[in-house]
Amino acid sequence: MSSDLRALYQEVILDHYKRPRNFGPLEGADHHADGYNPLCGDRVRVHVKLGDDETIEGISFEGSGCAISTASASLMTEAVAGKSAGEALALQNRFHKLVTEREDEADPSGLGKLEALAGVRDYPVRIKCATLAWHALKAALESKENESRRVSTE
Ligand code: ZN
Repeated sequence: MSSDLRALYQEVILDHYKRPRNFGPLEGADHHADGYNPLCGDRVRVHVKLGDDETIEGISFEGSGCAISTASASLMTEAVAGKSAGEALALQNRFHKLVTEREDEADPSGLGKLEALAGVRDYPVRIKCATLAWHALKAALESKENESRRVSTE
């Protein structure tokens, strides 16, 4: 990875950490999940409003955590808004591969800004920070309406 690209990625992460998108409660949300990463202390609560055709009509998150977990949650909400639950779960799977596979095996095509988090693959402890919101998203999508699920990265 070039140093220019690394700097750009850091900028994206810092921007989403300082000004998280879709942060706060979500009116009309019907799926929720709490994620906790005990290694770092990150907490993320994800709210989803699913439409009749399983489309993510609204999504937001709350909680507090490190820069990586907050930026990842913010980027996640932007990436899955408007997608179907199935598409969102497929993206979750691809994101998990992006941050856990070796750089020469990973395929970042179509992941857009999410690629900014690819660098965490070199820092195993940080992988849990980056994937926390995605675990919570998966739990929220797989939960029954208005049931609140809890997930932990351990
Ligand atoms: Zn963290």
